[in-house]
Amino acid sequence: MTLERAIRAVVLYPHIMDVYADRGNLIALRARCRALGVALEVANVGLGDPLPTEADLVLIGGGQDAEQRRVAPDLFERRDTLHRWVEEGAGVLAICGGYQLFGQAYRTGAGDELPGIGVFDVTTVAPPLGWERCIGDVLADSLVEGVGEVVGFENHGGRTYLGPRARPFALVRFGHGNNGDDPSEGAVYREAIGTYLHGPVLPKNPALLDRLILAALRHRYGPDESLPEVPGDEWAVRAHASAAEVARSRGRPRT
Ligand code: GLN
Repeated sequence: MTLERAIRAVVLYPHIMDVYADRGNLIALRARCRALGVALEVANVGLGDPLPTEADLVLIGGGQDAEQRRVAPDLFERRDTLHRWVEEGAGVLAICGGYQLFGQAYRTGAGDELPGIGVFDVTTVAPPLGWERCIGDVLADSLVEGVGEVVGFENHGGRTYLGPRARPFALVRFGHGNNGDDPSEGAVYREAIGTYLHGPVLPKNPALLDRLILAALRHRYGPDESLPEVPGDEWAVRAHASAAEVARSRGRPRT
């Protein structure tokens, strides 16, 4: 008899960090886990709520400066546990404002210095008033094994720059990515991924979704775990293809 495998996901600040339907990532995760025969336990963690003792996957969505200001001190308090999970190989998906706070620091448009938890060696600075935001469709090639081409939509003022210990998540073909100056998009550390891609990103990037589920399974059960041979979700493949087409036709070509 095979016992059903289960992964434990933590969603940080689901009611605060959720611009551009980032909660759709959890819906996609639930659906894919069901198809793979993997049980999914979800702990929603709001301001001041206790973290569960263990987690295999952490999700945090985007938010504007005001929301980031609310959650940053609470997140900072939890940095030791979050770092432990990351070092153990748990999966992380941190989007936009959440990604910025998983970096070293974010200086907001109002000049506040928000400390990040430093999972990624990246620093983000909001540009002076009057600068354009980085908005539009993104098509990029992920440097994470097995993930391939990624698509999404970005909308951020902050410019993120990689420090010497950071690796980009992807290289943009269309879109701004981290800062619009260099081709990097997002960051990766172990199985933690930070990215500017909203969309939500998981429903249209099925290879990224599977990668995160695999990381979570390996974190819980060990490095020999693999995903069952279950056909990919045809709708996810189609959603990816049509978003890629949109990015190619109206996205900002990499300069
Ligand atoms: N406040 C951040 C910025 O504009 C993040 C925005 C977001 O999460 N969409 O840079």
